Amino acid sequence: MRFATLIVFACCAASLPTAVGAQTPSALPARWDELTASAWPQAMEKSAKTCILPIGILEKHGPHAPMGSDIVHVRELAARATKQEYAVIFPEYFYGQINEARHQPGAFALPARLALELLEATCDEIGRNGFKRIVILNGHGGNPEMIRYFIQTRLERRRSYVVYFFTPARDSAVTDRAATLHRSDPAKDMHAGESETSTLVYTVPGLVHLEHAKDETGTDQQRLALPADLYTAIWWYARFPNHYAGEGDKATRELGQLIVDTQVERVVKALKAVKADTRSLELQNEFFDRVDALGKDEPRR
Ligand SMILES: [Zn+2]
Repeated sequence: MRFATLIVFACCAASLPTAVGAQTPSALPARWDELTASAWPQAMEKSAKTCILPIGILEKHGPHAPMGSDIVHVRELAARATKQEYAVIFPEYFYGQINEARHQPGAFALPARLALELLEATCDEIGRNGFKRIVILNGHGGNPEMIRYFIQTRLERRRSYVVYFFTPARDSAVTDRAATLHRSDPAKDMHAGESETSTLVYTVPGLVHLEHAKDETGTDQQRLALPADLYTAIWWYARFPNHYAGEGDKATRELGQLIVDTQVERVVKALKAVKADTRSLELQNEFFDRVDALGKDEPRR
């Protein structure tokens, strides 16, 4: 639907000689790809130079949910949150870590080095456009290790911006409310299971096909017996060879609404904190001043 609207707008705009698409403050789009150059300064000011980078992945989501479920979800969170707390939203970004789904149709798994390099180049380009704050909203369970490594290695060299990773802490009040709505075992509810499917049923019902959710099993197959102290790459495939973990057929709009609305609140709170944060960049600069001074004759702090 959104895509169709954009096509119509593009055709109309090309045939009109005046700036009918001029953006007033109230109509300022959050999406980078919908902003005009004339509205750019306004977007920078209103966002306090903050850009959200929603990261998802393309991978199988059980037999019933779309390949892009993770990016769809974080794009929804960003779109809803920025209506309350403005920030610019970077376009679809689905270049993460998904090697564990290579055996399934639809997985887009770039080489690891390229995925990191692309993330770095993307953040550098966002920074080059004037943003001082980049907030990563991640929707894919296979990405956090990569994102944390990426962020920690930002101390490799000086940059003009700070990268933040939105990682909401567990909220027991919400977990308790969710438990009353859950129809499957919350402990077994993971990839494309009841919770994830519910969020999609709430936000993009037309993309979910619950009638197929039981075509395959999302049960833990327990095919690898190693002590919990050991981590190995094949653990996920050993447990969930269908790349499906949980019971998507139990999804409900009510559970989806609780999860999404709660997450939106948390994103809004995080955006407010990020936009007010000048200290991180100050400290980052101080750190690099000391790095630069090390080994030189200048007095060190
Ligand atoms: Zn997912």
